[in-house]
Amino acid sequence: MRFKDKVALVTGGGRGIGAATAALFAAEGARVAVSDLDEAPAREVAGPIGGLAIACDVSDRWQVEAMVERTVKELGRLDALVTCAGIIRDNLLFKMSDDDWDLVIDTHLKGTFLCAQAAQKHMVEQKYGKMVFLSSTSALGNRGQANYSAAKAGLQGMARTLAIELGPFNVNVNAVAPGFVETRMTRASAERMGMDFESFKLGAASQIPLRRIGQPEDIASVIAFLCSDESSFVSGQTVYVRGGP
Ligand code: NAP
Repeated sequence: MRFKDKVALVTGGGRGIGAATAALFAAEGARVAVSDLDEAPAREVAGPIGGLAIACDVSDRWQVEAMVERTVKELGRLDALVTCAGIIRDNLLFKMSDDDWDLVIDTHLKGTFLCAQAAQKHMVEQKYGKMVFLSSTSALGNRGQANYSAAKAGLQGMARTLAIELGPFNVNVNAVAPGFVETRMTRASAERMGMDFESFKLGAASQIPLRRIGQPEDIASVIAFLCSDESSFVSGQTVYVRGGP
């Protein structure tokens, strides 16, 4: 029960890594706001854990501010922010459109900026808070992902910077950078490449030292550690969770 009496807000919580994180936080005693672009997946996750479902496009300032205010109003406070909302629009540079660039940067980078800005107000006031941003191994470079890689590398810099700014207020800010995790996002990558998902997963696993791909729970447990008081002296770090170095 590491999160007894705590309140967590998970964006992109309706699916994949966000859904596993919301479930783990609830299992460990937190009251959880599950936010997603559409309300239906948020409700599906929030229902069984007695959480609060909120529809929110994280790239929209007004919607993000309303999401954070509703969380605090209905659940009482805000202790942990986990930003999982994400999309991919992969293309080689010469084919990448302005829309591909803007959508990915706005969702990951601006979305996390807006969520962090709205959340810090409450965390600074209560002199307690944890933020975890979802980066990716793609931050280190990945063919066809100039937009996504730039956003995910940017999030690591944002985590370091906010750790410096918010540290004096007892707010920890870290990033988690997963490798290949089995979710709708990786299924969509396989589809786009015209590959069967099972062969795609096997191919990925063969390149990973631990010889398996990640599951959403593998990432959720590291996020939970970074939001718990066990890691209260860890801030501004990026933890790679990829089955290898
Ligand atoms: P996922 O299953 O696709 O979940 C992402 C969720 O974010 C979806 O429900 C999606 O809604 C939602 N979303 C998209 N745009 C949004 C917006 N503007 N506002 C609010 N929500 C939005 O993906 P996942 O694999 O769990 O990924 C979670 C995070 O981990 C992402 O930041 C991703 O980049 C990162 N990550 C994933 C992997 C991996 O291998 N899966 C690896 C490294 C990093 P829709 O489905 O309606 O679009």
